[in-house]
Amino acid sequence: MSTMKEQPIEQLDMKRSSYHLIIDGERRESVSGETFTTVNPATGEEIARVSKGTIEDAELAVEAARQAFDHGKWRHFPVNKRSRILNKIAGIMRARFNELVELEILDTGKSLAAAQGQVMQAIEDFEFYAGAVVSHRGSVNAMPGAFQNHTEHEPIGVCAQIIPWNYPLMMAAWKVAPAIAVGCSIIVKPASLTPLTAIVLGEICLEAGVPAGVVNIVPGSGQDVGNYLVEHKKVNKVAFTGSTPVGRKIMEKASSTLKRVTLELGGKSPSLVFADADLEAAVDGSLFGIFYNSGQSCEARSRIYVQDNIYDDFMRMFIEKTRKLKLGNPFLKETHVGAIINEDQLNVIDGFVQSAVREGATVETGGQKAVVSGYENGYWYEPTILTNVTQDMEAVKEEIFGPVVTVMKFKDEKEAVRLANDSEYGLGSAIWTKDHARATRVSKQIEAGIVMVNCPFSAFPGTPFGGYKQSGFGRELCVETLDLYCETKSIVAYYGSKPLNPLGI
Ligand code: NAP
Ligand code: MG
Repeated sequence: MSTMKEQPIEQLDMKRSSYHLIIDGERRESVSGETFTTVNPATGEEIARVSKGTIEDAELAVEAARQAFDHGKWRHFPVNKRSRILNKIAGIMRARFNELVELEILDTGKSLAAAQGQVMQAIEDFEFYAGAVVSHRGSVNAMPGAFQNHTEHEPIGVCAQIIPWNYPLMMAAWKVAPAIAVGCSIIVKPASLTPLTAIVLGEICLEAGVPAGVVNIVPGSGQDVGNYLVEHKKVNKVAFTGSTPVGRKIMEKASSTLKRVTLELGGKSPSLVFADADLEAAVDGSLFGIFYNSGQSCEARSRIYVQDNIYDDFMRMFIEKTRKLKLGNPFLKETHVGAIINEDQLNVIDGFVQSAVREGATVETGGQKAVVSGYENGYWYEPTILTNVTQDMEAVKEEIFGPVVTVMKFKDEKEAVRLANDSEYGLGSAIWTKDHARATRVSKQIEAGIVMVNCPFSAFPGTPFGGYKQSGFGRELCVETLDLYCETKSIVAYYGSKPLNPLGI
């Protein structure tokens, strides 16, 4: 293990050839000295080498986080001071916005517009929690006579935060900001495919004045580093975003230490287009709903159900616009759809499409790997619409996590609700209708954590984000998230003038 001291953190280029772990306020190589490369999925080219954390590094990070929590000053800072530092983190991110966007595009292959929106949201998340934590308060509860009760929120302790590759910086912000706002210490385990912006966020936290050991970043494999953190006795909580199968394993492993767990998992979100919808808005919203981020979104609206009497009109417009989507240089404003994260994921997506076709589905457009001029060595998939599908097909049941959408018809509201809820998942959902009463009625019946009414967007700082059913539990991005990084302490007191003698002796 060696410590990188050669250059002050604020003078580091965000885009560089090597990235390191952050442990106890220092940039470090891993104990083993091992590294791994991260790749630009748009071109297939290597971008940089990253120190590869292993169990030894995870242990050092837990020790540093424990020390910072048990004996450090961060959680005892006045809340205003923590709030100011969160705002400072946001300020540094704002000042270096373009560099963060560029790095995120390189590591993920996502389009400029997508990366800009996500980096901006990451910044706003820190600003949101800087504000929210100042008014995060306990309660005063009714008690008889001279008794009094109030509650206080205390930070839960050391938290492991494990994040996926689809929104690397934004997911890191959703986790880091609320946890450090309340005074926790954290160890972030970024996805192996996209570690760069989370590492840079760790560096920014140090530059902004977060004390050593409070924010540790340990890139490394999930099986190894992730698993070790989940089982560690000195870790109080694990916050995980990723796939449902890994989420299940994490919950099971966390049980031996009764760790607090929040899980943001997969989805298969339905979009219901009623005959009275603004058709243009429904088409545009549905395009964004599935093809944004190349469909690699947990809340992608990947099952569209259209009322039978407008189905033909909807499909004509939807297919026409899908064919107009541009794939290509992710750095161009006019590129709509970026690359797929890697070759494995590309093959998974194609596998779903081909199996649906074998089962009788019709490919209305797309349906294969895309060849993008100038980006022949990257991983690309054509925006794809499948029809003639049934609820029991894998392509309708399983999360594809790519630019593939299935479209089916429904007769009436009752059938629409039944089809929407016929899924193991329950993350997002969308309703397109001009009838306010219908929107209200249907949104109450949908089994999902988020309902978008005539709206393509699901997540703003302050709005709860999380799932029902197999999409997990706990809510992020909102005020309640602060509670999930705290224990509630109930303080019961007696202020009577006569001493109490409960045993009557
Ligand atoms: P994943 O395979 O579950 O991995 C997520 C993270 O968990 C990665 O950092 C991974 O490390 C780590 N990990 C893997 N196995 C582990 C283990 N046994 N113990 C501890 N950690 C482990 O998911 P993904 O493919 O990266 O991301 C896609 C999934 O995330 C999709 O299902 C998507 O729906 C979901 N997602 C959900 C939300 C939401 O808010 N609900 C948001 C975004 C994404 P490695 O990278 O080293 O494998
Ligand atoms: Mg990468």
